Amino acid sequence: MQPSETPPAQDARGTACAADTGAVPGAADSGAAASAADVPASPARQASAFASGDGGYDVLVAGGGIIGLVTAWRAAQRGLRVAVVDPEPGGGAAQVAAGMLAAVTELHYGEETLLGLNLASARRYPEFVAELEEASGRDTGYRASGTLAVALDSDDRAHLRELHAFQQKCGLSSEWLGGRDCRRLEPMLAPGVRGGLRVDGDHQIDPRRLAAALVSACERAGVVLHRAWVERLVVRGGRAAGAALADGTVLGAEQTVLAAGSLSGRFAGVPQDVLPPVRPVKGQVLRLAVPRAYAPFLSRTIRAVVRGGDVYLVPRENGELVIGATSEELGWDTTVTAGGVYELLRDAHELVPGITELPLTETRAGLRPGSPDNAPLLGPTALPGLHLATGHFRNGVLLTPITGDAMADALATGELPDVAKPFRPDRFTGAGASTASARDAAPGSARPLREGLPA
Ligand SMILES: Cc1cc2nc3c(=O)[nH]c(=O)nc-3n(C[C@H](O)[C@H](O)[C@H](O)COP(=O)(O)OP(=O)(O)OC[C@H]3O[C@@H](n4cnc5c(N)ncnc54)[C@H](O)[C@@H]3O)c2cc1C
Repeated sequence: MQPSETPPAQDARGTACAADTGAVPGAADSGAAASAADVPASPARQASAFASGDGGYDVLVAGGGIIGLVTAWRAAQRGLRVAVVDPEPGGGAAQVAAGMLAAVTELHYGEETLLGLNLASARRYPEFVAELEEASGRDTGYRASGTLAVALDSDDRAHLRELHAFQQKCGLSSEWLGGRDCRRLEPMLAPGVRGGLRVDGDHQIDPRRLAAALVSACERAGVVLHRAWVERLVVRGGRAAGAALADGTVLGAEQTVLAAGSLSGRFAGVPQDVLPPVRPVKGQVLRLAVPRAYAPFLSRTIRAVVRGGDVYLVPRENGELVIGATSEELGWDTTVTAGGVYELLRDAHELVPGITELPLTETRAGLRPGSPDNAPLLGPTALPGLHLATGHFRNGVLLTPITGDAMADALATGELPDVAKPFRPDRFTGAGASTASARDAAPGSARPLREGLPA
């Protein structure tokens, strides 16, 4: 498979994208030519921190994946007049993602600053879900069921032991279990499992339901959804002033948020020095169905590193079992390959042999928005009026609550909260940019971790 250099959106622009069927039930078909006059009154809209320029919006969000939507929803709750532009709001990587909220089991060396943000977001999840479900009238499939990371051979076991020691050093809660105890917890595990880490705080949500709930919550909060592609950012008088759509409509805005996921690094009209260094990282995922007679097949997320690759099985309440994921640097390619499916099934089968009995219902590939230090870019850029909310890579679902809160702060007050400051976009353009690490490059981030960790 040749890497694809061309973002798919470039091909799709100007076609009938705006008429695509929405994968998200309840998504608004607001039309691409809506103007400020179409902005419905929002009960939440009481005050605007910024006057909107030329009759446009206070905030225009380019990209309606879960990150753009949560930003729009939270900003609307602050009383700002907000619009989102996306041909398919609620689409994007969330339609593929497994939905693990894995702050602890996703811990990697060198990502301690990101851990602080991940933990802070994980702690907000229960309250966030309750508020979102109330605001949208939709279930999100949030499940506080925990995770078991297991080892199949002595190398994996040594690796997991090391991870456990690192987790303990970071003050995280995880418990080492022998193979027999792992199988007692999850009887479908292979007899060869040598041990594992029980992490009761790493939960899961159904990202498709999360996206649908965010679309509904946005609509109810008065966010205008323009179902269209942004052709380019509009820059006037040295500041971002909104966006031009493919049909020539210009949507004016006092502040614009670039939240275009893996396409953020190729966004037309954004000055080169402000373009985020975001790239697509392909992930293939399988969905299986657990027949009622087999339930409960697994009671929590099972994950492992097998032959150097991550594999996980995420059991949903509704009987769906998600198996993921490959990690491939192939540009904007979203082909599902025989090799990808084979490797996922082979590795998952080594962990849980019984999966071969289950119907395979879906295979799909999506694109993670990767950044040089695997952490998001949040908040204002060097171009006045332009903010970024992108680069969430493999933790975008986990980081949804904190991203919404941090971006709403930045949009309403001009300031990011402390927990988000290490993730300012200027860490890649300022003096420390060459270190490509949030921990090393972000101003004021020399302090270890922060909001997330116990003292
Ligand atoms: C296989 C896989 C598994 C994953 N598993 C997990 C997991 O278990 N846990 C976790 O926390 N995260 C996971 N993730 C990561 C998570 O899904 C992403 O980080 C997150 O969904 C990114 O959201 P986003 O809104 O930034 O980007 P996207 O979802 O890519 O959304 C961007 C949106 O911008 C729109 N857009 C782009 N260009 C334009 C334009 N010019 N005009 C208008 N709209 C535009 C697109 O249509 C799209 O809807 C996974 C991702 C993948 C691919």
